Amino acid sequence: MPGSRVVLRPGASLSAVPGEVERLGLKRVLVVSGPRGAEVAEGVARALGPVCVGVHAQARMHVPVEVAEHAVQLAASLGADGCVAVGGGSAIGLGKALALRAGLPLLAVPTTYSGSEMTPVWGLTADGVKRTGRDTAVLPRSVVYDPELTVGMPVGLSVTSGMNAIAHAAEGLYSPGVSPLLQLMAEEGVRAMAGALPELAAEPGDLAARGQALYGAWLCGSVLGATAMGLHHRLAHVLGGSFGLPHAETHTVLLPYVLAYNSSAAPDALRRLGRALGSQDPVGALRELCGRLGAPGSLGELGLTEGDLGRAAELAAGTAVSHPREVTADGVRGVLRDAFEGREPQGR
Ligand code: NAD
Repeated sequence: MPGSRVVLRPGASLSAVPGEVERLGLKRVLVVSGPRGAEVAEGVARALGPVCVGVHAQARMHVPVEVAEHAVQLAASLGADGCVAVGGGSAIGLGKALALRAGLPLLAVPTTYSGSEMTPVWGLTADGVKRTGRDTAVLPRSVVYDPELTVGMPVGLSVTSGMNAIAHAAEGLYSPGVSPLLQLMAEEGVRAMAGALPELAAEPGDLAARGQALYGAWLCGSVLGATAMGLHHRLAHVLGGSFGLPHAETHTVLLPYVLAYNSSAAPDALRRLGRALGSQDPVGALRELCGRLGAPGSLGELGLTEGDLGRAAELAAGTAVSHPREVTADGVRGVLRDAFEGREPQGR
């Protein structure tokens, strides 16, 4: 497992980022963010002072290749020697594109629980098709988690982003690459996140709960980074990339259905997940938690149509994934149909 340096404390985006940049010997960094994160990115830029040569607030979800190209050109014209990505998975995705295509060392300041900062996985979208790959060059050298940046995250996004993190750990638990160490990290990550979500939903400004959620995101993202993705991530990828469904919400809806599909083939993973959730029925516990916190419960709610189901199943079943249970077109269709309607997950 390649490692990043990690700092996690309130205020770290301002107090720790300059030191992390200096430690890496960087003299001219470009700060990137999404348009809605521009203000936070400007704050980090101000803390960096003259070491920051620009703020580029143009990140978009799934890293369209033209957005990446533009950032690469800008970085070259500014003579940037490093990148600080401030934001969710989309901003970090743009930072990874700069690391991949311009060779810039990356620092990440995550503001969601997507966990991208802990993985060597990059993504680029061209002509509506998202390609992903692994390259240690895109793994951030330093990750600075600042709970203060997340207190304004709407509860809805906090919950779905938290479920995105839990999905990383859950799928890691039945990945062929899982190890005893990763099992511990996955269980602890799920426990931390599932404990933090009700607390931050009740009190969004609770810095301790926000810190715990970031700690959970760190662990769950690390598990994703060290294991192979299975059917769950494959389906989320297809539904986001080809049908435009929102990323974190899609993960949230899908997870209980994919887990139910796997339950007979991956009993140890389900047992560990149940232990982390304090229940013998992890699928039911996740559904209950999501329902209680007001998360969406069906793919239909997210904009998928009945007519999309066949094509989505074909796309998802057509690519080999490492998975404990055979991924058949019929099986995927069943998972998608149940998730589309939001009905009780079946272990069929
Ligand atoms: P995102 O980065 O697109 O952010 C979603 C929205 O939330 C944006 O409008 C953003 O401005 C806003 N936002 C972010 N942080 C906020 C905060 N603290 N307060 C208020 N608003 C905030 O969404 P995401 O779910 O973090 O990331 C999704 C993207 O990341 C997808 O493209 C996905 O494929 C990618 N991803 C990649 C990996 C990987 O390992 N490569 C892992 C997870 C996700």
